[in-house]
Amino acid sequence: MSSHELSTGFERQRSALLDYFGFGSQQGVDRLRETQLSQAEQHLIANLVLYNIGILVLGGAASFAMARRTLRPLEQAMEAQSRFTADASHELRTPLTAMQTEIEVALRAHNLTVAEAKEQLASNLEEVAKLQALSNGLLALANQDAEHFVPRRLSIKSILDQAIKNSATAAKQKEVVIDNQAGNVSVLGDKDSLVQLFAILLENAIKYSPPKTTITISSQVKGNNAHIAVHDQGHGITPSDLPHIFERLYRADSSRTKEKVNGYGLGLSIAKKIVELHCGAIDAISQEGKGSTFTVRLPLAPAEPSEQKTV
Ligand code: ADP
Repeated sequence: MSSHELSTGFERQRSALLDYFGFGSQQGVDRLRETQLSQAEQHLIANLVLYNIGILVLGGAASFAMARRTLRPLEQAMEAQSRFTADASHELRTPLTAMQTEIEVALRAHNLTVAEAKEQLASNLEEVAKLQALSNGLLALANQDAEHFVPRRLSIKSILDQAIKNSATAAKQKEVVIDNQAGNVSVLGDKDSLVQLFAILLENAIKYSPPKTTITISSQVKGNNAHIAVHDQGHGITPSDLPHIFERLYRADSSRTKEKVNGYGLGLSIAKKIVELHCGAIDAISQEGKGSTFTVRLPLAPAEPSEQKTV
């Protein structure tokens, strides 16, 4: 097309030169036209080849970069999934290995007394309880999905009362006082899941606090959300652990507490999943040696005409 355009333009110029000025022979002008046309054609082909190669390289590089960007979250999710499977298998293997060794030793003993056998069974029962706790946690994590979620208008007060009731035995054993100062706000959510969420936070606050301390629950309404905070006077969380505590199977180094605290690092990941299903958020702030505050943000239920908000 470009050659054709050039040729047409040249033809017009030639006619103009011949008609108006009468100089230049027919052959001379034709030769000049042929030379210029073939040069222009060569330039065009060279440029077309170069531009096409450039576009091909740029397009390829851009496609590669875009594909990498699109696939990165998928890759990260797969990595997280396989890390979780490996961690979960490791957690399951530990009590199983302990039980296997104990049973093998007991079977090899020639004169095992009834008392020793009972001791053995009691120890095995402890390991079974650990396995049960772990499988319950994993199941709870898997079951937290939109299908099991029945949103209703709920009063935060009744949810907190139930969660406090569930944690009462643990609190009593440690002589920890739970001071509930939360007001009566209504949120939209699934009752069982929300009770489980606050029971997890209270259980942790009790577990990671010294005896005879106080856990305070407070609430605030900000915009269209209720903010419910659970504050404890425990040993706190280090800045290096804080960004990871909501990850599945993550446990901060408990050696600092000088006491072995039971758990599998599943509680807060279950809590996070529950909050996300409620279109809310959860975060934690902590000061080592002074305590931690976990704040849950939940969307408020649409106000009823007769309802009075008291916070
Ligand atoms: P678990 O308590 O079973 O270890 P979680 O997922 O509930 O698992 O918590 C993850 C980690 O976060 C815990 O191992 C603990 O180190 C830290 N943590 C959670 N809540 C608190 C708290 N209230 N005070 C101090 N540390 C906490």
